[in-house]
Amino acid sequence: MAEAEATTELTTAGAEAAVPQSKKRRASENGIAVPELKNGLSEKTKIIDESYFASYSDIELHRTMIEDTVRTNAYQQAIFQNMEENIRGKVVVDVGCGTGILSMFCAQAGAKKVYAIDASKIAVHAKQLIEANGFKDVITVLQGKAEEVELPEKVDVIVSEWMGYMMLYETMLPSVLYVRDKWLKPGGKMYPERAVLYMALGEAQWITTYEEGTYDFWVSLNHVYNLDMSLLADHAVARYKDVVHVHMVAQEDVLSFPTPVCDLDLNTVKAEDLRNISHSFNLASIGSGRLNSMVMWFDVWFPGGMKLSTSPDNEDTHWQNTVLPLATVPLEQDNQVKGELHITQDLTNHRFLNVDLKYSVNSGEEITRCFKMDDNCNDNDF
Ligand code: SAH
Repeated sequence: MAEAEATTELTTAGAEAAVPQSKKRRASENGIAVPELKNGLSEKTKIIDESYFASYSDIELHRTMIEDTVRTNAYQQAIFQNMEENIRGKVVVDVGCGTGILSMFCAQAGAKKVYAIDASKIAVHAKQLIEANGFKDVITVLQGKAEEVELPEKVDVIVSEWMGYMMLYETMLPSVLYVRDKWLKPGGKMYPERAVLYMALGEAQWITTYEEGTYDFWVSLNHVYNLDMSLLADHAVARYKDVVHVHMVAQEDVLSFPTPVCDLDLNTVKAEDLRNISHSFNLASIGSGRLNSMVMWFDVWFPGGMKLSTSPDNEDTHWQNTVLPLATVPLEQDNQVKGELHITQDLTNHRFLNVDLKYSVNSGEEITRCFKMDDNCNDNDF
């Protein structure tokens, strides 16, 4: 009875459910405002987290993740690839189990016991699915925060799909590291075990198309209403330039080889290492082009070598690529773009990020740009 009640509370995304569109992974749920509170950061963090976990009660969001076959197949193959050695007879914890799909892969691969943890109400469905698939005796669903759940034993393996846009958005990785330090046996396995974030020079065509369309619109009003509204064109273009954009970038729109912004060994990395990531880069253009963005993406690797890549060279994923829009500069072959990139957790909402970029083209004037990465990052109205 309690379960049935909980089920009716789950969001099914109403009319949107009819359209098989990609829902965005968010760091907060639409409509839940985070008030400024007097009683400190921890109360605020609690409200931010409630909103975050509420966003994951939306079944359509789980569909978006599961129908991303690059993602789901990579996890399945990684789990099955070395199942005799790493999974069969082992104790596994699935941090952020969602619908329980990765826990069920582990059960299929012969895990002795799987603890499936999720703080979102989606855990109610995970429990139902696990029972319906005959894994009730192997998988135990624990609805709660990974940091607060008590397990009856230490584990051999941690499986988690914690990556957000630009890898670090949502700030879920610290929760996985907390579980690692508390519950993973020495020598236990992390799925994935390595994560690398990359950046490269970009000439994103959609930025050019958006800019041209915006100028054309505001200038065209002169012909229609005999009023000069063209001043607003600059304002309209500037509006999207301070925001990190989640958007696909075509392979041919990447103008340089990538450089790794951070290369995380998930067996050893600490949550503190993630709060402030800095990278000095020197990128050389391949051929000529028009630099108008920095493009970012990530890859993760699993024990056994399976790689999940979100690169523009690969098939599209629901993470798409991440784009920092820049003022357009023409580049010739081997032109150098040097600078520094800093990624920090936002102080008002730990699930959001700030991305600060300093760069110069061919040792020219240094340009500083500060981008916010909040829940607007995937508003693809450009
Ligand atoms: N493993 C599932 C879902 C991945 S999405 C799949 O692969 O399809 C990430 C999930 O982690 C969400 O359901 C979210 O609610 C959960 N999550 C994030 N941080 C958590 C935490 N600290 N404790 C418990 N669950 C968490």
